[in-house]
Amino acid sequence: MNKTMGDADCLKNLTVLYVEDQEDARVQFTRFLERLVGQLLVAENGAEGLNLFMANHPQIIITDILMPVMDGLVMSQEIRKIDRSVQIIVLTAFEQIDYLKSAINIGVNKYVTKPVNGVTLYKTMLECVVDLRSLEQLKDAARTDLLTGLANRRELEIRFSAEKGRAERNGIPFSVIIADIDFFKRVNDTYGHLAGDHVLKAVADALVGCIRTEDFCCRWGGEEFLLLLASTNLEAAAIVAEKLRQIVFNLEIPWEWESLRVTVSLGVSTYKPGMDRDECIRLADEAMFRAKAAGRNRVELSEV
Ligand SMILES: [Mg+2]
Repeated sequence: MNKTMGDADCLKNLTVLYVEDQEDARVQFTRFLERLVGQLLVAENGAEGLNLFMANHPQIIITDILMPVMDGLVMSQEIRKIDRSVQIIVLTAFEQIDYLKSAINIGVNKYVTKPVNGVTLYKTMLECVVDLRSLEQLKDAARTDLLTGLANRRELEIRFSAEKGRAERNGIPFSVIIADIDFFKRVNDTYGHLAGDHVLKAVADALVGCIRTEDFCCRWGGEEFLLLLASTNLEAAAIVAEKLRQIVFNLEIPWEWESLRVTVSLGVSTYKPGMDRDECIRLADEAMFRAKAAGRNRVELSEV
């Protein structure tokens, strides 16, 4: 979802599923909703609604409760099992208080009482847009290292499994690079932690700037970064690692009246089918430690 758009404009980007068995109400609100949302899907009962949901993955669902074939609560329950972020609005008559309780237990987000007032429904949909945005921000935050803006370890797990799956299917290896900033403690001790953070951010930006879009870079530890190079063997990865080393070596990081300079030590390993993730990362890590031992500001390759 585009975060600079207003909430009302945002509805125009969304797909909404509307489920209602009663024809008069359905015709009336189909006309009303069509003007507000990007794509409107309409179903006459929960079973139809569930099928439309599976095929189109709308972001908002508006559903009646009492319907033939499958009611709105059973449908919502089925949908909640597979999608935790879709916003569900139930339409409920005032006297259906027990249904409302069940709806809340199932994970329905909002309710609007029947007979439905168009303005109330519209306002409720806008609330859903706001909630969808916060959910997206939460998802971003859970996958991002706040200081550098890079992906974090959790995101790495997802990407590593994807690359591993691909490598096993097509037999093309991928490579791992671990880059650790040399003498980082000195930066913190001499210039303070703010300078240290600034250096981390600058190095992160430099690393991301010289990999391809299909590659991946995350913050692995304090001053340590891990990169995944898609469809790249050890020799090609060694060339990339050397390029990364030079880019960081040439980096001038402005801080107050000075220009800070750092170097990185890099270790490279390649994933071969059958290896597990930890083993592959351990090999890159060991190579990185050999680069440190051999004098830093250099690249070492895994021997396996
Ligand atoms: Mg009904």
